[in-house]
Amino acid sequence: MNLFKKTSSHWVRYDSYEWKKDDKGVLYITPAEKAKPELYNPLKDSDKMVLHAINTGVVCMNKDTNEQTKQDAVMEFVSSYGLLGFMTALPTTPEFITYEAVYFPKNHFIRQESMATEKYLSYFFPFDGLDFVKRGVESRWNVSDPSMIALTMAMGSQPQAVTMSSQKEYAESYEWLAKEFTDWAFTFVSAFLYYQDMDTLDDMQKDLYRQGMAAFGGIAPTYHIELLEKPTIVWDFHSLLLAIQMMFSFMLTDEKSSLKVCKHCGKVFLASRPNTVFCSGQCKNQYNVYKSRANGRKAELTDEQ
Ligand SMILES: [Zn+2]
Repeated sequence: MNLFKKTSSHWVRYDSYEWKKDDKGVLYITPAEKAKPELYNPLKDSDKMVLHAINTGVVCMNKDTNEQTKQDAVMEFVSSYGLLGFMTALPTTPEFITYEAVYFPKNHFIRQESMATEKYLSYFFPFDGLDFVKRGVESRWNVSDPSMIALTMAMGSQPQAVTMSSQKEYAESYEWLAKEFTDWAFTFVSAFLYYQDMDTLDDMQKDLYRQGMAAFGGIAPTYHIELLEKPTIVWDFHSLLLAIQMMFSFMLTDEKSSLKVCKHCGKVFLASRPNTVFCSGQCKNQYNVYKSRANGRKAELTDEQ
């Protein structure tokens, strides 16, 4: 995606994550005690990441799937790409630390329009709070763990909240994660069915699909201009969530390729040709084997009759 070639997007992932419950029984995912952080560029292979996110949502949205399978799918995504960065994705600005309070546009997670900064932080640091004090617009944050100091330095000139969300104490609620993945999968499935079933949908059904799609969207990432070989737009996503949302939007509207559901395994994949219906050669072969076996059985039955 040329438009997003230049990005300052780097994100942190740890080499291991764990499940943890707070005293109210809310389930979280957080870096494991001895986990080591690593910075990576999530846009380097963004198609693969977006597909992984949608397929995680496909698992989560299925009512027949058991809870363990859903949890495993969410954990697998987080282990591959890190937590989503809800903390900086939800407020009106990732620079919220520098304001008196945190403000929110309409979202699926927090109903209030604004909240005290310390209260908001407690959603994401339910176990070990940060050494953070806020008075008016002023704030002070102390980092004492040497590996976290190094990470904070490596994050560079990001808004403070982005750096905070890269810390080992940072946690995200499993319910929120599952909901976000489900929302993405739902958006994709709506778009897919809308075009697939176009001829058989009545006007009211079409309208429902269109309304569902109109609700999808989010805060656009901010950008700045850097004087490289020539003036260049640099995008600042400030959360993995927003990066996925944007990349997903471009994949959904791309004219050269399309997102599809594999006819054999049901996974969402990126088809480069309009007539592709399988996610892989393996799925194509297996589908044909099953089909010929099924035909074989049919033939046997016919013989017996
Ligand atoms: Zn497949």
